[in-house]
Amino acid sequence: MDNNINDFSGDFPVLDQQVNDERLVYLDNAATAQRPRQVIKALTDFYEQDNANVHRGVHTLAERATKDYEDARQKVQAFINAPAAHDVIFTKGCTDSLNLIAATYGEQNIKPGDEIVISIMEHHSNLIPWQQLAKKKQAVLKYIELTADGELDLADAKHKITDKTKIVAVTHASNVMGTVTPLKELAAIAHQHGAVIVGDGAQAVPHMPVNVQDLDVDFYAFSGHKMMSPMGIGVLYGKADLLRAMPPYQYGGEMINDVHRDQSTWADIPFKFEAGTQNIAGAVGLGAAVDYLSHVGMKNIQRKEQSLVNYVLPRLIAIPDVQVYGPQLPQKHTGVISFNIKGLHPHDVATALDMDGVAVRAGHHCAQPLMEELGVTATARASFYFYNTKEDADQLIKAINETKEFFN
Ligand code: PLP
Repeated sequence: MDNNINDFSGDFPVLDQQVNDERLVYLDNAATAQRPRQVIKALTDFYEQDNANVHRGVHTLAERATKDYEDARQKVQAFINAPAAHDVIFTKGCTDSLNLIAATYGEQNIKPGDEIVISIMEHHSNLIPWQQLAKKKQAVLKYIELTADGELDLADAKHKITDKTKIVAVTHASNVMGTVTPLKELAAIAHQHGAVIVGDGAQAVPHMPVNVQDLDVDFYAFSGHKMMSPMGIGVLYGKADLLRAMPPYQYGGEMINDVHRDQSTWADIPFKFEAGTQNIAGAVGLGAAVDYLSHVGMKNIQRKEQSLVNYVLPRLIAIPDVQVYGPQLPQKHTGVISFNIKGLHPHDVATALDMDGVAVRAGHHCAQPLMEELGVTATARASFYFYNTKEDADQLIKAINETKEFFN
C-alpha cells in the first residue's frame, strides 16, 4: 500500500485503547471523526485563558474571545476559499445550515409550481427540509437518480433540472456509498436555468480539498465534528449577495442593528444569521481542526484515504457472500464503504465486529430513500479517515471472515 503519509494515530488519544480485549479500530468516521490532542488543547486553552462572551464586551477576555472566534471564521474562509470571512456563517452543524437555507431563502423564493431538485442519495438532512418546503409551498420535489454503478446520473440531472427549477440541493459525497458527485457540473447546469445550487459538504470537506469559488456553489453546508472539531458547530457558506437578501433565520441578541418598540433592523452578514450566544468554544475548536487538517494537507489526506480504499475494497468484494453497495471501483470512492453479508442482519454484523474491536455503523444511515433504491433496509458501513492504517483494514477483513464463520 502507498503509505506516503505519516501515521497520525498517535495524535488521537481515544484511538489508543482496547475494546473487548482487542485493539480499537475506529471505522465510524462518517458518523463522527476523532479529535486530535491539538483540538482538545485549543478547547482547554480557550476555557482556561480566554473564556468570555464575544462582540459585546470591552474587557480583555471579551476581546480575546472575540478574536479567537473571528480568527476561526477566517481559518474556515481560507480553508474552503470563500471570498470573504462574512460569507462564513457559524451554525450548529450541517443539518442546521441546510434548514437555515430552506427556512430563509426557500421561504422567500419558492412559489407554487416551482421545482426543487435533489438526488436520491441525499442524507435526510438534505432531503426533509426540501420535502417539507415543497409541501408547504405547493412546489414539486424531483430526485436525480443513480447510474447502475451507484454514481449520480448526470444525464438524468440535465433532464430533471429545468427552467422551473429554483433550487438544486445535492450532496458532494455520499455518506452511504462514498460516491463523489459532479457538484461543479451540477452548479453550471443549475445556473444555466437560473436556479441556485446548495452543496452538502458534510462528507467532502473533511476528506478532500474544497474550493467553493471553483465549484461555484451558491450555498455549501458542513459539520465540524466530522472534521475533528467539537460537536454542535458547523458552517454555512453562502454568496454574499444571496445572504444579504435573505431574511434572518432566528431573532434575538447579536443579529440586530437597531431595535425599537415596533420595528427592528438587522445586522450585516454574518451576524444576521448568528442570533444569541453562539458555540464560541466550538468555533475555536473548529479553527484548531482546520489548522490540523491544513498541516497534514488535504491532498495528502485524500491520497491516504484513496490508498486505504484501494487496499480494502477489492479484499472486501472478494469475500464470498459480501455485497458492497455503490461504486465497485476504488477510485470512485471516498473512504466510506457500505456492505452486507448475505443472510446476516447488518446490526448483528456490527455487533460481531465490535467483539473484534472494530467499530462500524449499521442502519439506514439517515438515507431511507436510497436504501429503498438499493433494495435493502439497512447496511453495515465502514468509514475510513486518514489516521486509519493498513492494519485497521486487515483487522476489518479478518473480523468479517470470523463473523461469517461464527454465524455459519
Ligand atoms: N449530510 C450528510 C451527507 C451527512 O453524512 C450528515 C451526517 O451524517 C449530515 C448531512 C448531517 O450532519 P449533522 O448531523 O452533523 O448535522
